[in-house]
Amino acid sequence: MDFEFTDDQKLFQKSVRTFAEKEIEPIARDCDERREFPLEIVRKLGDLGYLGAKFPVEYGGTESGLVSGVIMAEEMSQASPGIFLGIYVNVYLGLSAIHAFGSEAQKQKYLRAGIAGEQISAWGFAEPDAGSDPGGMKTTAIRDGDDYVINGSKILITNGDLADFLVVTTVTTPGAGMGGLSLIVVDKDSPGFSARRLDTMGMRAAHTAELSFQDCRVPADHLLGEENTGFKKALRTLTEGRVIASAFALGLGRAAFGRSLEFAKQRMAFGQPVGSFQGLQWMFADMATRLEAARLLTYQAAWRAEQGLPYITESSMAKLFASEAATEIAKTSVLIHGGAGFVMEHDIQRFYRDCMVLEIGEGTSHIQRNTIAHQLGL
Ligand SMILES: Cc1cc2nc3c(=O)[nH]c(=O)nc-3n(C[C@H](O)[C@H](O)[C@H](O)COP(=O)(O)OP(=O)(O)OC[C@H]3O[C@@H](n4cnc5c(N)ncnc54)[C@H](O)[C@@H]3O)c2cc1C
Repeated sequence: MDFEFTDDQKLFQKSVRTFAEKEIEPIARDCDERREFPLEIVRKLGDLGYLGAKFPVEYGGTESGLVSGVIMAEEMSQASPGIFLGIYVNVYLGLSAIHAFGSEAQKQKYLRAGIAGEQISAWGFAEPDAGSDPGGMKTTAIRDGDDYVINGSKILITNGDLADFLVVTTVTTPGAGMGGLSLIVVDKDSPGFSARRLDTMGMRAAHTAELSFQDCRVPADHLLGEENTGFKKALRTLTEGRVIASAFALGLGRAAFGRSLEFAKQRMAFGQPVGSFQGLQWMFADMATRLEAARLLTYQAAWRAEQGLPYITESSMAKLFASEAATEIAKTSVLIHGGAGFVMEHDIQRFYRDCMVLEIGEGTSHIQRNTIAHQLGL
C-alpha cells in the first residue's frame, strides 16, 4: 500500500499551488463581490496545460490521470471555490463528456479548444422540474431532416450564459423514460438558444444561468454517441465528476480550516490566544480529522477510477463525506472567528456562503445516500 504521491504528482501539486496562490487567491474576494468570472484564468490554465490533465496528448492534454485532476481541484478550490466552480464544470463535466463519447470531429473541434482554454463549456442537465429525478426531464430534441429541434429549459447551469458550447441532456424519444435521453452539443449562437444569469447566495464568481431553447436548431451530428443512450453517459460523467467535486469540497474545507487556525493562534481573550481553550482545540481536532478522512476517501476513489476498478460507491461516499465535512468546517470556522466571521471584509463568510452548493450540485447528499444504499443492494 502506498499513500504517497509520485514525484510527478508532487511536482504538479507544487506548480498548481503556486499558480493558485499567485493568480487566483488575490482576485478571489473581488470576483465574488463583483460577481465576475475571470475568463483570463481559464486562458492561462490552458496555456500551462492544466486543463488537459486527464485528456489524451493528441487533443493537447497531458494524460496524467484523475488523481492529477483531484490535486488541481483541491488546490484551486482552496484559492477560490467560486472561480473553481466554473473551471470544474467546464473540464470535468462538459469537456469530459465530449472526450468520453464524442466523435473524432467533435473532439477536434470542442475538446481541443477547451483544453487550450480558448473556449469554455457548460453541462446542461438540471431542469425546473427535474433535478434529482431525470425521469421528469421535459426538454425535447426532435429530429427534423439534418437537424435536431430543441424545445424546453434548463436551470441552475454553471457557465450557462458564458459557455461557447453546452452539453445538454435532452429527451429524444418522449415516453421512453431514461431510455429516451440523449446528449447533444449546443453552440451558444444556435438560433433559438438564450441564457439568463441567476443571482446566487454563494459561488458568486461563477455564473449560474437558466437556459431557454425555443425551436433551437442544432445539426444532427452534434449528438454525442448513439441516440437514446444519454442517461448512461450522463451517469458515467457524473460519477467521475463527483470525485472532483469531493476534492473541491476538500479544498474549501482546508481553506476555512487554515484561516481559522491562524486566527485562533493570534486572537487574544482572557489574556491568552483563543486557540489555547480546550473547547476550540477539540473543534480543530475534529475538523482536522474530518479533512483527513475526506482526503483519503477522495484520493481512494480517484485511484480506483484510474485503475479501472468499480468506484460508483466510493465516488458517492467521497462526495457525501467531503461536502458535509466542508459545510461543518465552514460553519465552525465562522463561530471560531466570533463577530469577525460575520463581517464581509473577512474571507470566512465567503466559504460559509459557498459551501452548501457542494451538498446540492452533482446530486444532493440525499441522492448520494440513495446511491450508496442502492449499491448495498437495498
Ligand atoms: C450553484 C449551482 C450550480 C449548479 N450547476 C449545475 C450545472 O452546471 N449543471 C446542472 O445540470 N445542474 C447544476 N445545478 C443543479 C443541481 O444539480 C440541482 O440543484 C440538484 O441536482 C438538485 O436538484 P433540484 O434543485 O431540482 O432539487 P430537487 O430534486 O427538487 O430536490 C429537493 C429536495 O428533495 C430531495 N430529494 C429529491 N429526491 C429525493 C429522493 N429520491 N430521496 C431523498 N431525497 C430526495 C433533495 O435531496 C432535496 O433536498 C447547480 C445547482 C446550483 C445550486
